[in-house]
Amino acid sequence: MSRAIQIQQFGGPEVLQLVDLPVGEPGPGEIRVRHHAVGLNFIDVYQRTGLYPNALPLSLGMEGAGMVEAVGPEVTHLQPGDRVAYASAPPGSYCELRVMPAKCVVQLPDAIDFETGAAMMLKGLTVQYLLRRTQPQGGLQAGDFILFHAAAGGVGLIACQWAKAMGLQLIGTAGSDAKCELAKAHGAAHVINYQTEDFVARVKEITGGAGVKAVYDSIGKDTFERSLDCLAPFGLLANFGNASGPVAAFNLGLLGAKGSLYVTRPTLFTHIATRERTQAMADDLFGMVTSGAVSIPIDQRYRLEDVAQAHRDLEGRRTTGCTVLTL
Ligand code: NDP
Repeated sequence: MSRAIQIQQFGGPEVLQLVDLPVGEPGPGEIRVRHHAVGLNFIDVYQRTGLYPNALPLSLGMEGAGMVEAVGPEVTHLQPGDRVAYASAPPGSYCELRVMPAKCVVQLPDAIDFETGAAMMLKGLTVQYLLRRTQPQGGLQAGDFILFHAAAGGVGLIACQWAKAMGLQLIGTAGSDAKCELAKAHGAAHVINYQTEDFVARVKEITGGAGVKAVYDSIGKDTFERSLDCLAPFGLLANFGNASGPVAAFNLGLLGAKGSLYVTRPTLFTHIATRERTQAMADDLFGMVTSGAVSIPIDQRYRLEDVAQAHRDLEGRRTTGCTVLTL
């Protein structure tokens, strides 16, 4: 048996229940992993509310790190006793022990502790595919401006550091002056408090009127159209989240009128669909972390049984950087 967090219905943080679930033996292509720490992500909120549909009852959580206890048939890259970490679909990481597909699980380098591993996989692999693999036509070169919303969040603080390491000038937005300072301390070249400042005007000012080559927008509804206004001609908007709600239907003609723009709606789970790509992306991420180019800021820790409070704080914009659940 394992203590786990499950929901029986979609709703607010109050639907999160601590339950005991049976844990069996791994089948073909599966492993059993004992978690040492679990990562919290904004996608967990979308799954709790039902914005991203799943069958009920639903075990939540998509990120964790721990030790492999048992390995099923056909698993060749892991064995019992391995230290591992993952970002995975299907959800179910808010627990002590689980059986799960091995495909998305990688060995965690000895230099990276379990909490860091649990905090960094989903968010760090997201930054990897956004900055390295989701680029405007012609690619991003050192010196280029990009705009990254929610720059003081979990994904955001990793992106600030990674972009700096690539020589990019990241303009970060955040919801308070203190969060802006944090983003700057993590490598943002410029910061904008989008609660008090007009971010389109500020981006134009910072870029001398030219606009940015790419916008990485996880806010969605509240920022989408204004994000388009920040782009230079032929620029790329990557909408990768919906913290304020999903983007409404829009007239494609807008993209022509605003300068032959590109829009994409990527998700990590397409990028980590194969084991080979997951390993290659994880190797890149591990290299950035072990070289010191990127540190993983764990700014909040909650016990598994306090996960409802963790969700309230995340949705209430009271967190910065990464959050882990301790076991
Ligand atoms: P964060 O730590 O960034 O938390 C979300 C932040 O969004 C808040 O702290 C807040 O920062 C900002 N925000 C703006 N408007 C709202 C609002 N109305 N309600 C709540 N928050 C708001 O979360 P994560 O690092 O876990 O994820 C960041 C984003 O990236 C999420 O939208 C997530 O869904 C997305 N994501 C997408 C992936 C993909 O592959 N498509 C993979 C991983 C993450 P502030 O106060 O500074 O505005």
